[in-house]
Amino acid sequence: MSEAPSSGTPYPYDAPASQALFDRAAAVTPGGVNSPVRAFRAVGGTPRFMVSGTGPYLTDADGREYVDLVCSWGPMILGHSHPEVIAAVQDAVSRGTSFGTPGEGEVALAEEMVDRIEPLEQVRLVSSGTEATMSAIRLARGFTQRSKVIKFAGCYHGHVDSLLAAAGSGVATFALPDTPGVTGAQAGDTIVLPYNDLESVHEAFHRYPGEIACVITEASPGNMGVVPPQPGFNEGLKDACRKNGALFISDEVMTGFRTSRAGWYGIDGVKPDLMTFGKVMGGGFPAAAFGGRADVMAHLAPAGPVYQAGTLSGNPVATAAGLAQLRLLDQAAYDKVNTVSETIQSLVTEALTKEGVAHRLQNASNMFSVFFTDREVRNYEDAKRQESFRFTAFFHSMLAQGVYLPPSSFESWFVSTAHDEQAVQRIADALPAAARAAAEATAA
Ligand code: PLP
Repeated sequence: MSEAPSSGTPYPYDAPASQALFDRAAAVTPGGVNSPVRAFRAVGGTPRFMVSGTGPYLTDADGREYVDLVCSWGPMILGHSHPEVIAAVQDAVSRGTSFGTPGEGEVALAEEMVDRIEPLEQVRLVSSGTEATMSAIRLARGFTQRSKVIKFAGCYHGHVDSLLAAAGSGVATFALPDTPGVTGAQAGDTIVLPYNDLESVHEAFHRYPGEIACVITEASPGNMGVVPPQPGFNEGLKDACRKNGALFISDEVMTGFRTSRAGWYGIDGVKPDLMTFGKVMGGGFPAAAFGGRADVMAHLAPAGPVYQAGTLSGNPVATAAGLAQLRLLDQAAYDKVNTVSETIQSLVTEALTKEGVAHRLQNASNMFSVFFTDREVRNYEDAKRQESFRFTAFFHSMLAQGVYLPPSSFESWFVSTAHDEQAVQRIADALPAAARAAAEATAA
């Protein structure tokens, strides 16, 4: 017998159809979900099972509509069911769903990406961000003939075994596996350092001369909440890599084609050796990529010896969706998303300030999140010091009023070009009560 994962939470079941689906799901799927954050474990209550999405709105199994501030964790930058993306998908589907051969769509998508991002000379398509970072790390190791990888605590690069290690901070702390199933050996070549701390990076290179294959970082982290790089941090990483013969990998799975036309690279201009992408470039389908310097990419099979492959890589439906979405993302679209993001950030700050709730809004272009603390958040340790119990109360108040936030205080909020005045007004109307709930919340 499987137990309803939400039993025992303090939140009433006000979503009976979602709860019934969640109970069914729990019988056949671990925890009732196919990706852990969807289970609402951080905030409690019944995860909403969504049945449709249009523009800025999602509708759940109980027929309730929400303004969506998750946007599928980033991809839906044009909102849900954008007519031109849907038309491109329908056109592609009508010609078949997978061929297992090369096709023009994948060439066109790669060309569009290479055209937008100068350091991206060659690109290989895969199906998930996890695959992209896993393959980029393998390529970096193959190219440099070195083993060790530097990553930063609080940066998420998908569920790649060696990159799940986020525990341990301080200089050259060899990571302990963060999850059962990742062996010490798999995590043993991963060096986890505090984010925004260049000194620790220099010390690690000093301690392991000739052993570090690459440094991987989120171009601007959104997986510990939004914690942008301090001025000069990414540049310093690039320089340290150059000096020590390591590759600099910028993970743009979240920021790519979202924070600007050329992603975070379009904002800070720091040139990585390799980059990874996902989310926006798939238009809501499983498409992702890694790429960068042509001389490094030349080491990839079949051009070179580093093996990498995928049955559904460059899938014609996914590439059609991604290409249609990217082609619609002109400067006017980014201006619109940025403006909506700024408006919502101001509204959140205004409401929380009015209720005297200590908070910090942090943003990286149009990605933003709220930390319930009065101090700047520069790394994972800072992020963990926030009063998350206030977020829980805030989240449930917003949800009850029809605004769907990420169900964790360690996630970015995402908006789209479809978030119009009406959607923003709904958020504005919900905020005062949510801010009050945050103010009145007490630690469990
Ligand atoms: N890298 C970053 C920065 C991410 O935010 C994510 C997912 O959220 C990934 C990699 C993994 O992507 P996926 O979930 O498509 O495997």
